[in-house]
Amino acid sequence: MVQVPGLSKSRFQAGLQCPKRLWLECHAPELADPTSEVQQALFDTGHRVGELARDRFPGGVLVGEDHTQGRAACRTTERLIREGAPCLYEAAFEHDGVLVRVDVLRRNEAGQWDLIEVKSSNSLQPEHTSDAAVQAYVAGGAGLPLSGTYLLHLNRDCVYPGGSYDLEELFTLEDLSGLVEEYLPAIPGLLRQMKVMLAGDCPEVRIGRHCENPHRCQFRGYCRGFLPEYPVTDLPRLADEVLAEFLEQGICSVLDVPLSHPRLTPSQRRVCADIQGGRLRVEPGLTAELAGLRFPVYFLDFETIMPALPLYVGTGPYQGVPVQWSCHILQADGTLEHHEFLHRERTDPRPSLTESLAATLGGPGSVVSYSDYEGRILEGLAQSQPQWAAEMADIRSRLFDLREVVGRYVGHPDLHGRTSLKLVLPALVEGLSYQGLAVPDGEVAMLRYQEAVWGELPQAEREAVFQDLLAYCATDTLGMVEIYRRLAFEVGLA
Ligand code: SF4
Repeated sequence: MVQVPGLSKSRFQAGLQCPKRLWLECHAPELADPTSEVQQALFDTGHRVGELARDRFPGGVLVGEDHTQGRAACRTTERLIREGAPCLYEAAFEHDGVLVRVDVLRRNEAGQWDLIEVKSSNSLQPEHTSDAAVQAYVAGGAGLPLSGTYLLHLNRDCVYPGGSYDLEELFTLEDLSGLVEEYLPAIPGLLRQMKVMLAGDCPEVRIGRHCENPHRCQFRGYCRGFLPEYPVTDLPRLADEVLAEFLEQGICSVLDVPLSHPRLTPSQRRVCADIQGGRLRVEPGLTAELAGLRFPVYFLDFETIMPALPLYVGTGPYQGVPVQWSCHILQADGTLEHHEFLHRERTDPRPSLTESLAATLGGPGSVVSYSDYEGRILEGLAQSQPQWAAEMADIRSRLFDLREVVGRYVGHPDLHGRTSLKLVLPALVEGLSYQGLAVPDGEVAMLRYQEAVWGELPQAEREAVFQDLLAYCATDTLGMVEIYRRLAFEVGLA
């Protein structure tokens, strides 16, 4: 019999997602995947938003004990309530083996309390109800007279006017009281089940879609360690029951999946055939697609940032703002030139970025991007910089989505059923990849940019980051050129 550890709101949420996740979190946390830089940045954003949210309820007292001092935090909370504090941040309660910290607790006119959970998301998500409900259950069980439960999240419709944030505008307060009331009766039973499970051995749970939902589980690496190089989990949109069937039959590798398996969808069957075939597949329709490109061909890629807390006037939470672009221009005779732009100041990047785009990408000629995201960015630029609307509309009208074309006409074992540039480039083009780049992907690019422009880096380090960002974005567009060249060669156009 294993000793049952104490629960918290995050452990309760983990247990709802997967009992094995909760068990591992409590008994074997060392098996978790390392926290990535991007995940850490998300946590940091959550903390920043949480701290800002406190100012939305001024006059509160912070219960300062940290997560290792839960009992002391409960005593401080009790004392502050007794002394008449009107509002508490990080109040602590314990009941039924669960210790919770409440983001904001506000005393109302009737002398009762409103419980407010703060999230850095910009909408209400299904899992927020259980999160708030377990807090209400514990606080109520500890004797707190609660009148309402609320969720405070970022307001997706907020438009930042500049200066200090208007917190009434920046946040949306949603009343969850009804949903929480409905959820409360289920909690004692759920907690009982979790405690029984935690007292036993690690439960057996198969990997499946629940590993990503509502949050990517930190034990993915551990639970998927048995999978071979071409795992069946690579098959796109594989239903949990089909995955379970495969694993039960000992089929862990795509190489072992029978192509005639009746539950495979056409796209899954194609991925199996590509991996089992072991070579590049090019469908005949690709010739006509590539032949439709008009020279000079512009290979365009943007890097954007999506700050939770808006940085530029006229933008809102999580709005994508382009800060950089790279463009390789391929002439019909095969010559190639490169242009790029990177905004290095704290000012709004969009005016100068839009002007530079218009100056470089004036037609004619197709504009190749690697997703439909570039089209949405151009649309946003046309709206925010109306003086360039015609130029942005012209560039949009010439867009050619290479990713979509690759997805429709190209297969290769090393794509693992996906079409991301990071996989397609090394699979199709020898000697060109993202290995060795200081910025390996778009998420890290976003982080680095914000550190360089909005952080306190010394000048030399800032400049080094800018060079890394330029190299990364240029690799994206040069990669597109080389993918195009390889495919054009394959279909006899080069
Ligand atoms: S990876 Fe999946 S199966 Fe493993 S603990 Fe996490 S959610 Fe559960």
